[in-house]
Amino acid sequence: MTVQWGMVLDLKRCIGCNSCTIACMMENSLPSGVMWTKTLSEEIGSYPNVTRAFIPTLCNHCEDPPCERVCPTKATYITDDGLVLIDGDKCIGCGACITACPYMSRTKLNEEVFKTGLYKSNNITPFEKQGYDRFQPGTAVKCTFCHERISQGLDPACCVACPTEARIFGDINDPESKPRKLIQSRKGYQPLAELNTKPKVFYVD
Ligand code: SF4
Ligand code: SF4
Repeated sequence: MTVQWGMVLDLKRCIGCNSCTIACMMENSLPSGVMWTKTLSEEIGSYPNVTRAFIPTLCNHCEDPPCERVCPTKATYITDDGLVLIDGDKCIGCGACITACPYMSRTKLNEEVFKTGLYKSNNITPFEKQGYDRFQPGTAVKCTFCHERISQGLDPACCVACPTEARIFGDINDPESKPRKLIQSRKGYQPLAELNTKPKVFYVD
């Protein structure tokens, strides 16, 4: 059975520290305001008995992704190991995929975001420039599961940075993998499963 990369997000472990968001921005040289993984938070209960739940989100690398179906140039494609990626050279920035994704996982890179840098100084640093050179302004972007890291046997940057190990990555086709065991033992569920996009990101709580 072929490798199918996936991730489990353990809602019992997430403390909402946003280390994952920062690690992703650094790993992928994301311009200011662009985030490929975000942690949503929700208040539960009523005062004084309240608590807060944290819900990390990212592209779900869906098995049947609407973003890929609507792409007129085949810029969005699915790899044999289950990653949903975007070829920046083929993307014409029409935004059809951004509208089609029910998880709001995609962003279009406007020219403006490359001008200010993370420090909003109107003067991007050499480090930022080198990172930004990997993007074509005006195209669609999103989480890649850090494909350049996983091809070297490393975990995605967000998983490495998470201090509570709330993000567990691996081959969900492998019955012995940690994410697959978690999905089975703790009844992992997919976001908006009713849409039948077949996400490869699962939640356990
Ligand atoms: Fe496409 Fe959205 Fe699914 Fe990611 S979460 S594969 S962008 S439909
Ligand atoms: Fe395809 Fe790019 Fe259009 Fe998205 S914005 S549908 S990736 S061409």
